[in-house]
Amino acid sequence: VSAAAERFDFFYFVQQWPGSYCDTWRGCCFPDSGKPAADFGIHGLWPNYAQCHGRYGLARAVLGDDAFFSIVGRRGRCWPQYCGGDYDDNALRPWEIRDLIASLERSWPTLSCKSGRSFEFWSYEWKKHGTCSNLEPHDYFARALALKAAHNLTAILAGAGIVPSATETYSVSSVSDAITQGTGFTANLDCNRDADGESQLYQVFMCVDREAKRLIDCPLHKRSKCSDQVKLPLF
Ligand code: 5GP
Ligand code: 5GP
Ligand code: 5GP
Repeated sequence: VSAAAERFDFFYFVQQWPGSYCDTWRGCCFPDSGKPAADFGIHGLWPNYAQCHGRYGLARAVLGDDAFFSIVGRRGRCWPQYCGGDYDDNALRPWEIRDLIASLERSWPTLSCKSGRSFEFWSYEWKKHGTCSNLEPHDYFARALALKAAHNLTAILAGAGIVPSATETYSVSSVSDAITQGTGFTANLDCNRDADGESQLYQVFMCVDREAKRLIDCPLHKRSKCSDQVKLPLF
């Protein structure tokens, strides 16, 4: 963990719909803890800068990402990452989050086929994003769990009639409105495609204050890859 306080503006609290991770051409694998519930799972809690398309936006568009980042480097990225470097001594240690492991298995399960151990997903997220959060590992993971519990996305969508289905499609604006109604704040939506190429809701980016305690309206809107109508596939 870096000694100096990391400057950033807000967190993206990112949750993934397991059905949409699993039904792409890549497929998925269930973790050692068993098939996760048909519920949004945590992907990560990511410190972010509010200025991304400002000063460097034009240069990035003109040069392309590779040339842009090789010239501008870290300053041009929209977020800090690997604040302690990508070293093993920054790895998460199980005892630091011992009392949270059962909740994390439920709320932050891995669906990657690289490893069935969700701990490896948490440890990767800690090293890449958590080390920039100015939080201790226990607070970092506890606050992510508290955010998920306080704003039950699956229930919020169901309350608006947006339920998992093999056939139904929903307008992105109805999904977005349901989240704004249910949480009081706008979120950013991220879509991917199922094996048949159909657009589906994959991730929801909620914006959170620097303490990782309260939702805020997103200061930065990611470019949406969602079609006007999206699916919420079964899991
Ligand atoms: P992707 O290319 O799949 O959108 O993102 C790949 C990785 O880049 C993510 O897993 C995450 O670690 C990082 N990333 C992508 N977008 C953002 C963002 O807006 N903020 C932060 N902090 N990280 C991001
Ligand atoms: P990654 O998985 O490499 O951390 O991030 C993937 C996404 O983040 C890419 O879609 C890219 O737009 C953006 N990104 C963030 N930082 C960099 C960087 O240093 N180089 C490149 N090429 N993309 C970056
Ligand atoms: P990011 O760089 O997008 O923050 O993190 C994604 C990395 O975590 C990828 O290397 C991916 O293989 C790994 N990972 C492990 N489990 C999961 C999962 O359930 N969902 C996603 N999106 N990535 C996962």
